[in-house]
Amino acid sequence: MRYAIISDIHSNLAAFQAVLRDIDERGSAERIWCLGDVVGYGPDPRECIDLLRQYDHVCVAGNHDWVALGRVDLDDFNPEAAAASVWTTEQLGSEELDYLDNLPLSLEEGDFTLVHGSPREPIWEYLLSVYSARISFDYFQTKYCLVGHSHVPLVFELSADGACLLHEVSPDTMLRLEVNRLIINPGGVGQPRDGDPRASYAVYDSEQGVVSYYRVPYDIAATQKRMKEHGLPQRLIARLRYGW
Ligand code: ZN
Repeated sequence: MRYAIISDIHSNLAAFQAVLRDIDERGSAERIWCLGDVVGYGPDPRECIDLLRQYDHVCVAGNHDWVALGRVDLDDFNPEAAAASVWTTEQLGSEELDYLDNLPLSLEEGDFTLVHGSPREPIWEYLLSVYSARISFDYFQTKYCLVGHSHVPLVFELSADGACLLHEVSPDTMLRLEVNRLIINPGGVGQPRDGDPRASYAVYDSEQGVVSYYRVPYDIAATQKRMKEHGLPQRLIARLRYGW
């Protein structure tokens, strides 16, 4: 079975549609595993939730999903993210808010635990260093954990001697799942932050035991235009072009 692993759509419909097309062209996926932050920053929060719901999928809650629900204090966000969050909440109907309200903090799917930030702090912790990743391995029971939140495609590996290794991932990396436990970040769909503006995602093929990483160009200008029309902050519009 093939699972699409996506995270941090961030209301970027053009990027999300491009990723869905790419998944289809590469042989499709039976199920989507979504790691949260469906909304926030971008111009199409309602459309992104509605589109995701058309697929067989599971999704966990992200910090931006919680902020749209008013569960998190806006003071925890920088001014631009806070302004976009207020706007996002205004766009959502009761169905979309209900959907976000029912997202769990973590899920187990076979050998995988799914969270947004980290298994220790599912909403807020960023896993970018081997130090925080090493601690995280003690906080989930499955062999593998999938995380988003940093918008950076990365793999952490717990080696047999207990050391934590960081593997940076390049486009078209094929990760063979072997004996060691792993924490896997597919990168961000709607707002990549590793200097590559293309949407990032991964596919897990359970028969082959392989996670494949992909980058997908999308119409960045179209998303930027819609953000401008909605008066979203200029810095958020500009950063999409730089993948930052
Ligand atoms: Zn995010």
